Formats: sequence, C-alpha cells, structure tokens
Amino acid sequence: MPDINPRASEHAEIREAVRAACAPFDSAYWQRIERESAYPDEFVRALTAAGWLAALIPEEFGGGGLSLTEASIILEEINRSGANSGACHAQMYIMGTLLRHGSPAQKARYLPAIASGACRLQSFAVTEPATGTDTTRTRTTAVRRGDRYVVNGQKVWISRVQHSDLMLLLARTTPLEQVTKRSHGLSVFLVDLPDAESRGLRVRPIENMVNHETNELFFDDFEVPVENLIGEEGLGFTYILDGMNAERILIAAECIGDGYWFTDRARRYAGERVVFDRPIGQNQGIQFPIAQAYAHVRAADLMRYEAARLFDDSQPCGAEANLAKLLAADASWQAANACLQTHGGFGFAVEYDIERKFRETRLYQVAPVSTNMILSYIGEHVLGMPRSF
Ligand SMILES: Cc1cc2nc3c(=O)[nH]c(=O)nc-3n(C[C@H](O)[C@H](O)[C@H](O)COP(=O)(O)OP(=O)(O)OC[C@H]3O[C@@H](n4cnc5c(N)ncnc54)[C@H](O)[C@@H]3O)c2cc1C
Repeated sequence: MPDINPRASEHAEIREAVRAACAPFDSAYWQRIERESAYPDEFVRALTAAGWLAALIPEEFGGGGLSLTEASIILEEINRSGANSGACHAQMYIMGTLLRHGSPAQKARYLPAIASGACRLQSFAVTEPATGTDTTRTRTTAVRRGDRYVVNGQKVWISRVQHSDLMLLLARTTPLEQVTKRSHGLSVFLVDLPDAESRGLRVRPIENMVNHETNELFFDDFEVPVENLIGEEGLGFTYILDGMNAERILIAAECIGDGYWFTDRARRYAGERVVFDRPIGQNQGIQFPIAQAYAHVRAADLMRYEAARLFDDSQPCGAEANLAKLLAADASWQAANACLQTHGGFGFAVEYDIERKFRETRLYQVAPVSTNMILSYIGEHVLGMPRSF
C-alpha cells in the first residue's frame, strides 16, 4: 500500500532514521509499559542516543542544529510509529527558553550535557491547582535571600519530574499587587531535580487516563541558587510566551503523526475485515468517516508546514502556529474516532493499540494547551475581537 502521507519523501533521511530508531519499540513493548504503568526509559534513551531529542540544540553546543520543520518531522514520525512523544517531547519544547534567554555560563554548562544525554531537561512547572490556565495569577513565590531564591507553593500536572534532571519552574518574584502589568513579576528558574526531594520539594504522582508520568509538587522553603535564574528577574512570562509558537507547531506535528497512524490502521482493517461477505470498507458508512478524517489530517498538515516554514524564516507565525495546533488536534481526534469505530469491538482490545492511542491523542485537546485557549488566541489576536480575559 502506498504511504498515505504524500510528503513522506520529503526529509526522507530523517523520517527513515527516526522510524528505524522507533522500530524496536513495537506494540508488545508499549503494551508492557502500559500494563506496568512504567516510563519508557529504554525508548527515551534510544532516541537520546541517536541525537533526536537534541535536534534543536545548535551544533556549537553539541546538538543537531536542525530547523523547526525538521524537529517537527521527528515528533511526527515518533507518533506515527505507534509510540507517544509525551514521554520525551518537553525537551524540544522548553529547551528554547534556556537557549534564547540563558546566560552564556548556563548555556555552556547545560546545553552540551543535554545534547549528549548526560542531563535530561524534561520538566516544565507552570500549572497550579488554584489558578489553572490563568498563569499570571501564579501563586508559587520565589523570594530572594542573598545568593538564593526561596520557593514556596504548589504546582500540579508537572510531567516527567521523576525522569528528568532539570525542571524549568515559573514562580512569582514580585507580588501581583506591586506590578503594573499582570504578566510582570514572574521569573523562570532552572531547578536541579536529583536531590530536590531532600531539599524541600515533595512529589506526589497523579494517576491519570494515559500512562503519563505526571505529578503534584509541593515546595516548602525550597532553595534555588541565584545563578539558576534564567534571564532577567520578572520577565519569565515573556520568555514562556516566546516559546509558544514552537511548542504549538511541534504538538501539531505529533497530532499529524497520530492522524496518519489512525487513518492507516483504519483503512487497512476496513480492507481486511469481512462481515456480510464483504470487506467492511466497501460500505460507505465505514469508508466516508475515514476519508473525512484523512482530509482533515492532510489540511492540518499543510498548516503545520506553513507555520514551521514561517518560524524557520524568522517571520511572525502566531496565527499559523495556533491554527495548526487547533486543526491537527481536531483531525487526530476525528481520525481516532473513525479508527475506533471501524474496528468495532476490537478497537477496545488492548492488543490492537487503538484504545491506547485514542486516549493519548485525546490529551492534545487539553495539554499542553487547551483548545479553548487556542480559539481565544485566534479570536482576539487574529480576528481582532474583544479580549475575553
Ligand atoms: C497529562 C497531563 C500532563 C500535563 N503536563 C503538564 C506539565 O508538564 N507542566 C505544566 O505546567 N502543566 C501540565 N499539564 C497541565 C495542562 O497544561 C493544563 O491541564 C491545561 O493547560 C488546562 O489547565 P487546567 O487543567 O488548570 O484547566 P482550567 O484552567 O481549570 O480550565 C478548565 C477548562 O476550562 C477552560 N477555560 C478556562 N478558562 C476559560 C475561558 N476564559 N474561556 C474559555 N474556556 C476556559 C479551559 O480551557 C479548560 O478546558 C498537564 C496536564 C495533563 C492532563
């Protein structure tokens, strides 16, 4: 059967190499990891060793020095292979904060170690239980005392903390009442994780719908050295916003990978499964939802390439990045539904992997950014409608 992705021949070398790196991690591997609620450590190690997770780190620091388009293809192929980038994608999303705003000393210290795999930067602590999406109301505080910041507060849904060496932390350094703009007074810190639990950080895992290592964090007089502040104190929120377009494009690519995976599985099964003496795919009731989902995946893919192209040309791409994320997350969810329905009861059987991927792709509607926040961006910043919050 021909590849349903007409652009599969573009960046063929990267695609083939990522597929080869993912190939040993087959269905049986993912089912075992899921059964044991384990973290896919061997998989992340293999991708790291092959250099894929350091794709966006410049060559001078030992990384791949690839473009965002190329990085997005890596994540697309990971998801297309049946795996889930959620175990390791954060390094690609968040490393930009260190790269763009870190001091020369921070970059020299951390980037080569991240590129070589000696150090993992996989955690990003923004969300809080009380404030949720309203990030500017972040309640976790970091108060400077001499050569340290003392952190107190709580975060929730912070992923991969138990499998990362470093975590980016957003905390308020100037009280909200004392800033002229809500987005001011927030700062970003690099937190060393390995011994953090003996220094005032409590980590409570959250059981959840997907096999995703994520946690509640409690900071109790937790100290961070001043040299771990990234950029200027008080400008952390701008640094986070800076990375949003890249993040949205990379998530879109993961959704596209899922979308092609579901479509592929659905069309194959539709051609093989015989009921009432004919392949179920002969019925348009089965064929059309798959065709429809495929059309949406293709359209979303075009928007993802356009957003990535603009990003790589250093042109504004906020509209395209948000549109790509919205369309791709919707398309992968539509493809997931079509695929599950095509498989009938077997779609629910663990051995087909569909129910797992179904749950995993559903997450993209909520995290790392929820659909409503994307719609709100489009409404306000692209269409010029009144600000809602
Ligand atoms: C598995 C998982 C992993 C995660 N990993 C991380 C992580 O590593 N680091 C991290 O910082 N966060 C992480 N998150 C958190 C995630 O980013 C948030 O769950 C998400 O941004 C939504 O925030 P919330 O859950 O607080 O929802 P809330 O802010 O409580 O909102 C609930 C719902 O209401 C909607 N809503 C809220 N306000 C408005 C409005 N004004 N208009 C329209 N709709 C609105 C939201 O879009 C959402 O759908 C993770 C979440 C999950 C589930």
